[in-house]
Amino acid sequence: MKKIPVGIIGATGMVGQRFITLLNYHPWFEVTCVAASPRSANKKYKEAVKDKWVIEGKIPDSIAKMTVSAVERDIEQVAKQARLIFSALDMDRGQIREIEKEYASLGMAVVSNNSAHRWTEDVPMIMPEINPEHLELISSQDHGFIVVKPNCSIQSYVPMLTPLLKFGIKKVVVTTLQAVSGAGKTLKGWPDMQDNVIPFIGGEEEKSELEPLKIWGQAVNGRIKMAKINISATCIRVPVEDGHMASVSVYFNKKVSKKEILKIWKNFNPLKKLNLPSAPDPFITIMEEENRPQTRLDRGLGNGMGISVGRLREDGNNGFKFIGLSHNTIRGAAGGAILTAELLVKKGYLQMSSRTK
Ligand code: NAP
Repeated sequence: MKKIPVGIIGATGMVGQRFITLLNYHPWFEVTCVAASPRSANKKYKEAVKDKWVIEGKIPDSIAKMTVSAVERDIEQVAKQARLIFSALDMDRGQIREIEKEYASLGMAVVSNNSAHRWTEDVPMIMPEINPEHLELISSQDHGFIVVKPNCSIQSYVPMLTPLLKFGIKKVVVTTLQAVSGAGKTLKGWPDMQDNVIPFIGGEEEKSELEPLKIWGQAVNGRIKMAKINISATCIRVPVEDGHMASVSVYFNKKVSKKEILKIWKNFNPLKKLNLPSAPDPFITIMEEENRPQTRLDRGLGNGMGISVGRLREDGNNGFKFIGLSHNTIRGAAGGAILTAELLVKKGYLQMSSRTK
C-alpha cells in the first residue's frame, strides 16, 4: 500500500521536530516536504535547524537533506507534493487562520496544532479517544478540510474526567504544572526558568477551562453545542523540559466510590479495536505508588502517547482528587495530531490508496 504524502509547515520548530521524528518510519505516512519561515526557506533542513534541534537522536537522513519551502510563498508547490498537512506554525493567529485555509482550499487535509481555528464553528477539535464523532463536521466545511487538536494542558485531565462524566460532574478545579517546551523553549535557552516557578501562562487558563467544553459537546447540524461543566484552572510554568502535570479535584452530583473510578479508568481505551499505529495501550496507566506519576519517569509511557494518573483520594463529600500527567510535545502536540490523522484514515476521511500522489 502506498503511503500518504505529508507536508509539515512549521517543521523547524519544537513541535515540527517532533513530527519529523515521529513520522520517520511511520507505516502510513511519508514526509515529502517541510516548510518554515523565510528565514529557513531554501536552506537544507539540517542547516535551517542547526543547533535548534532539541530532540534526542539525530535528524533522519532523508529530512536533513530536504530543502525547506517557505510556508506562504510555496503553497502551490507543497500542494503538488503533499495530500496531508501537519501545521506546527507559531506566528500571528489571524495569519495562521488564513494560511491553513489556503492550504485546505488547494485540496490538502490540514491537521493543526495551533489554536487559530479551535473556535472556528465548523472545525472539529479532536482528541481521538474522546470525541471521534465530531469528525462528521468535516463534511459541512466549505473552506476545505481542517481539523485541530486542543491545547496540550488539557491532555493531563480530560482523559480521566471523560469516563466519569456519566456520574454527573458538578465542578472541576485543576492546577497544571507545565514544562518549558510548551512555550517552544528549553531550560538552557530560558534562564528565567532556572530554579524558578512562574505562576502565569498567558491565555492558558481560558483554554484549559473552555476547550474541554467543546470536546465534550454534541455535534448538531455541523456545529458543536458546548457541554456545560464548571472548570476552574490555574496554569503554572515549572522548570522541567517536557511533560505537563495536572493536580485535579472533581466534585460529583452523587456519591461515587474509588473502586468504581479505578475500574472505569482501567477499562477506558476507546481506540483499542481500531489498531491505530500511534494509539497507546493502555490509554490511561494507573499508578499505585504514592509518589507517582513523576514527570521525568512517566512522561514517556506508550512512546509519549500514554496518559498516567495516580494519587486518587477522596476530597470531602462526593469529591475526589488525583494527579494526571502527559507528554506535551508528543501526546499534547505532534503525536496527538498524528493519531488524529490515523483516525481520519481509518474512518475513511483520507483514502490511503486512491488519493496518494
Ligand atoms: P516554535 O518552536 O517557535 O516553532 C515555530 C515554527 O513556526 C517554526 O518552524 C518557524 O519557522 C515557523 N514560523 C514562525 N514564524 C513564521 C512565519 N512568519 N512564516 C512561516 N513560518 C513561521 O513553536 P512550537 O513550540 O513548535 O509550537 C508550534 C505550534 O504548536 C504553536 O502554535 C504552539 O502553540 C503549538 N503547540 C505547542 C506545544 C508545545 O508543547 N510546544 C503543544 C501544543 C501545541 P523558523 O524556524 O523558520 O522561524
